Amino acid sequence: MINNTTNTTTTNPWQNAQMQLAKAGEYMELSALLRATLSQPDRIIEVSLPVLMDNGSVRVFTGFRVQHNNTRGPYKGGLRYHEQVNMDEVKALSFWMTIKNAVVDVPFGGGKGGIIVNPKELSEGELERLSRAFARALAPNIGTYVDVPAPDVNTSPKIMNWIRDEYEKTIGTTASAVITGKEISNGGSQGRTEATGFGGSFVLDEIYKQRGENPQGKTVAIQGFGNVAVYLAKHLITSGYRVVALADSKGGIYAEQGFTDIDAVEAHKKATGALSGFVGTTELTHEELLSLPVDIIVPAALENAITEHIAHTLKARIVLEMANGPTTQGANAILRARGVMVIPDVLANAGGVTTSYFEWYQNIHNEQWEKEVVLAKLEEKMRTATKEVYAMATAKGVSLRDGAYLVALSRLEEALSAEVR
Ligand code: NAD
Repeated sequence: MINNTTNTTTTNPWQNAQMQLAKAGEYMELSALLRATLSQPDRIIEVSLPVLMDNGSVRVFTGFRVQHNNTRGPYKGGLRYHEQVNMDEVKALSFWMTIKNAVVDVPFGGGKGGIIVNPKELSEGELERLSRAFARALAPNIGTYVDVPAPDVNTSPKIMNWIRDEYEKTIGTTASAVITGKEISNGGSQGRTEATGFGGSFVLDEIYKQRGENPQGKTVAIQGFGNVAVYLAKHLITSGYRVVALADSKGGIYAEQGFTDIDAVEAHKKATGALSGFVGTTELTHEELLSLPVDIIVPAALENAITEHIAHTLKARIVLEMANGPTTQGANAILRARGVMVIPDVLANAGGVTTSYFEWYQNIHNEQWEKEVVLAKLEEKMRTATKEVYAMATAKGVSLRDGAYLVALSRLEEALSAEVR
């Protein structure tokens, strides 16, 4: 969805996802059944959502839920509220969830959903009525052991609360585990807010460890300033990295010595509505940020941030994909040829769904874990998955993305063959 500049290969995320599957198939014998199973979602749901607006008019929104695959467990994946949400995007995101959940070995399949809307244009009441309408429309097709949604871009714990509540009213029973990413007072897990960002930091650290390198003082530029970017930045800073650039949709800021207080940047953005003007920084365009001479570039906003053009100008040696699908297929090939290591989204940002799994588990077992317990389990899961992906990529002489796909596809193949036996 981000179009920085010209790009000669596809920016259609579904085609990108299918090409990634085909590429992994070059390194591994995929059964015809698995290939066919993964090349289309199990089910596609499109719903029409009439919502009473504050001014008395009715607006009709379109929502989607794509249930890609449930071979390894209930469909699982976020709900995105964005003006550019479209079916191909949601299909791709649901496919990546199937792969991601297999990479980190949580007992879920893949799903994703969204509504075509700019939530910033809605009042709180309108947003609540829209989210409740979505929950009612999806109710026949979601459930604790069926399909478990979660937050994604522009959706919050409060929205998850509304969806849980409306779902329970619709089906007439309590079901705290029908959705994850809820507020803690409503069955959410400690650590879920931090999980995706912190998880990315654990993955990066483990990659340096596997390479026998010291990450202290490495410089990082992060595109994005939402949930994922903020907690990644915080964890990287406390782990000794130097985060020198940040950006939101309006533009970026640069601090040569590195940011030390992300809370202060958040307060500045809250007060002024933008990152620009934060004390001690200069402004950057999105393209300038991605081409900074830093050690690590982190796309943490939306798809297609790293185009072929950016791949040629990028100076970092590592790309940590915190957004889903931030690198086009063409850009990926250029980065590989240039020796830039891409830590793939299906590993890098899997901390969110891993902690969603912990939330789901706690809800089902009526447990509440301390934050330290959750984060320790998260760190263990992320480091284990990183070691497995790194070992696979090294053994096969392939990229980390292909390594992650090989780990995931082997698990899916095993689960599928057990199912059809
Ligand atoms: P968010 O809505 O909290 O933040 C998105 C950020 O991206 C905002 O700061 C926005 O200003 C910025 N942005 C939008 N367009 C931009 C542009 N052109 N240039 C720079 N910044 C831009 O969303 P999030 O939850 O932080 O998710 C970010 C990415 O991470 C998405 O790709 C999402 O699918 C992925 N992800 C999120 C989670 C999670 O737990 N939240 C888990 C896995 C993956």
